[in-house]
Amino acid sequence: MNIHEFQGKSILNSYGVAIQRGIVAKTADEAVEAAKKITEETGTGWWVIKAQIHAGGRGKGGGVKLAKTLDEVRSISEAILGMTLVTHQTGPEGKFVNQILIAEDVYYPGETETAEFYMSVLLNRESGRNTIMYSPDGGVDIETVAESTPERIFKEEVDPRVGLQGFQTRRIAFNLGLSGKAFKDMVKFISKLYAAYVGSDSAMFEINPVLKTSDNKIIAVDAKVDIEDNALYRHPDYAAMRDLNEEDPTEVEAMEAGLSFVKLDGNVGCMVNGAGLAMATMDIIKLSGGNPANFLDVGGTADAERVEKAFKMILKDTNVKAILVNIFGGIVRCDRVAQGVVDAYKNMGNIEIPIIVRLQGTNAVEAKKIIDDSGLKVESAIVLQEAADKVKAVLS
Ligand code: GDP
Ligand code: MN
Repeated sequence: MNIHEFQGKSILNSYGVAIQRGIVAKTADEAVEAAKKITEETGTGWWVIKAQIHAGGRGKGGGVKLAKTLDEVRSISEAILGMTLVTHQTGPEGKFVNQILIAEDVYYPGETETAEFYMSVLLNRESGRNTIMYSPDGGVDIETVAESTPERIFKEEVDPRVGLQGFQTRRIAFNLGLSGKAFKDMVKFISKLYAAYVGSDSAMFEINPVLKTSDNKIIAVDAKVDIEDNALYRHPDYAAMRDLNEEDPTEVEAMEAGLSFVKLDGNVGCMVNGAGLAMATMDIIKLSGGNPANFLDVGGTADAERVEKAFKMILKDTNVKAILVNIFGGIVRCDRVAQGVVDAYKNMGNIEIPIIVRLQGTNAVEAKKIIDDSGLKVESAIVLQEAADKVKAVLS
């Protein structure tokens, strides 16, 4: 589950990681109040206004702006709130901005230059170890660094038996070219960041930039956090951070109905029970010359209501030219599923695309009879290959 920058920063803050401080706002009035409060707390004279959407590249897209007066806070907030922000991570359709973060300006001048670093913590699935990735060349162009100077991206793997070691945090601070107070601050920053990643059961923490301020403090200016879905039950406070505005509406609908649904780009809608069978079904569709339009696991209780819900979700996708229903009846009996398909089909009225239903397992023969006798434009099959051939026939 992805969360917003301000939410990620609040998790970091709760673990004692130094952050650029800010207050979230939904209106220009709230933004001005927030700016005043930030100044009381931090003494900043300038502020930065940041669009809160689940995508990076906001700066380049015009979603991060510096304000030097309260009037500017108001006018910039008015401009960013309600805009559709397009960045290299949103796709061309962009994302609507519902809220902004009013943050202290941390790029103030001082006795030394500021420096932007890149740092992320994530699991390296090959080695099975948490890994800190970092680069002295942080800021907005980390993709370019990864492509043109990959040797400027460093990795530090953590041995799970002993955890993150002091020599490792010192090696990172050294490789980032730091010394003195900034070096010490960075060592602290890394160990707290790592504790936040582990403690929150996250899949990724990406901080870009980690800033060295002109007075040699190390702080997180941005935070991209992905919390592991399967661990959310342990963190109800983080689960509450879910922002449904940021998620695919069909996937949200599926989640609410208890279906696992992932939208894909193909033309054959799939309705299957069990993730393994869903994968196998997608494979056989490919082999038959089609392309799956979705992954959809209706789970163990494929009654008429669920089947109808699933049909509706599949049919929202105008690319779909055929639907393959592939259900293995174990605990759920095939005849009940067949009845569910027929009822859903009748309830929904004018379904114009061909539907191929393959039911195997308990009462498969009775199920086939229900489909065949229904008089509807639904074709049935018992063997998977037969179903695949029928899909192929209707597509060509
Ligand atoms: P992203 O573009 O979505 O990654 O958003 P970031 O939070 O990383 O901000 C983008 C850029 O805005 C940063 O790399 C900084 O250059 C700039 N920025 C962020 N905070 C401040 C600030 O407090 N003052 C100034 N002057 N620039 C800032
Ligand atoms: Mn960033």
